[in-house]
Amino acid sequence: MVKNSTTLTFYGGVNEIGGNKILLQDRDTKVFFDFGMSFAMKKQFYSPPFLSPKSEKSLQELGILPQIAGVYKFDPSPPEVDAVFISHGHLDHSAYLSFIKREIPVYCGETTQTILQALSEIRRADLEFSVADIDFRTFRTGKKIRVDNLEIEPSHVDHSVPGAYGFVIHTSNGAVVYTGDFRDHGAKPEMTHDFVENAKNAKPVAIVTEATNMTGATVSSEAEVQGKLDSIVAQTDGIVLAEFAYSDVDRLNSFYHIAKKNHRCLAVSLKQAHLLDALQKDKGLRVPDLDDEGILIFRKSKKRFDKWENQLIEQYEGQNKIFDGFEVSKQQYKVVLALSFYDFEELISLQPAAGSCYVLSASEPFNEEMEIDYERLINWLSHYGLPQYHVHVSGHMMPLQLKAALKEINAKKIFPIHTESAGLFAKFMRDLKGQVTLVEKCKEYTL
Ligand SMILES: [Zn+2]
Ligand SMILES: [Zn+2]
Repeated sequence: MVKNSTTLTFYGGVNEIGGNKILLQDRDTKVFFDFGMSFAMKKQFYSPPFLSPKSEKSLQELGILPQIAGVYKFDPSPPEVDAVFISHGHLDHSAYLSFIKREIPVYCGETTQTILQALSEIRRADLEFSVADIDFRTFRTGKKIRVDNLEIEPSHVDHSVPGAYGFVIHTSNGAVVYTGDFRDHGAKPEMTHDFVENAKNAKPVAIVTEATNMTGATVSSEAEVQGKLDSIVAQTDGIVLAEFAYSDVDRLNSFYHIAKKNHRCLAVSLKQAHLLDALQKDKGLRVPDLDDEGILIFRKSKKRFDKWENQLIEQYEGQNKIFDGFEVSKQQYKVVLALSFYDFEELISLQPAAGSCYVLSASEPFNEEMEIDYERLINWLSHYGLPQYHVHVSGHMMPLQLKAALKEINAKKIFPIHTESAGLFAKFMRDLKGQVTLVEKCKEYTL
């Protein structure tokens, strides 16, 4: 039976931060917006690497991968979904593309495809993240994509990963807006302003909005982060160890500029170097060139390197660009080293000099595993006498700015997702004209 209505069903991102999987159905056209992994549900049952899901059966059994007909590649029935649109390359929005039937086209930004492919090479064979054989169709801002009844307009937004988009979806019952993840205090707030303008002009009947930051809000910006990093790096005598998300290219740029300003090099991991190399082709991103003398590549001490690692090592060894812990150790006051807590074994060869610092430049702590590890982090820092600075700004819109944006867009219905505080959001927004719906998982909402 063909319905004339337009509906939204949320299979993820409900009462949790991430795991977005939003089905929009318009008459007989069905499109998913995002198809992410739910970190929150996963950690209820699993503790990688020793307790990890063996197959999609386990994930479905435990409700981590929702039951949806005609979507998964392990389901022999014909495809029932016309397309999947991915807002950006964070895994909580994209990872479960792994399970999507390969005949269903996947639309995403050009940069998102680059990031997902680089990530897929780095992570090797992984049940929960593989983009092999996906029919990617890429877009840039301003493009309009038709999928049967629907016309979809991606519009760039500022977020903590490059290539992030929101969408204006023209349905037979009016426009629906999806924000994806966004903010207006990053390196490119004007992109978010463009999106808000486009969304407003569409006079939407509904908006699906992220509402991540309802309880931990701050007033800051990427520019302020740079200023703080500058004051730390300028005063540090030894090495500066920097922890930040490897796909947060804006933060990497901030560290790069501040290192340069203070006559230091930024040493990135092989993983970061691989991504920078892949992103090089998009000149609009202005990522530092690996050939730049301000960039070094840090090689961890391990016995076996993957193919992509060996390629990078071969390519840059001749340029005297690849450094290991011992080599960095000899010139600590000349280096800002991007080093993840999980690579702290390297400190043993590095031996941080007196007056070195550790800068946590990511959300604190980033996940539950990190919470458990926090004590261990402190033990390492204590052992080497490294004070910890926390310098970060969130990838998500702050409450007052979110309210101003929603007021301007003025959608009739507001669906908050990607939040643990939907109730708080609804009360905070209750004087807006739009009506806030507290979303329930898997329930169909008619617009
Ligand atoms: Zn997210
Ligand atoms: Zn995100």
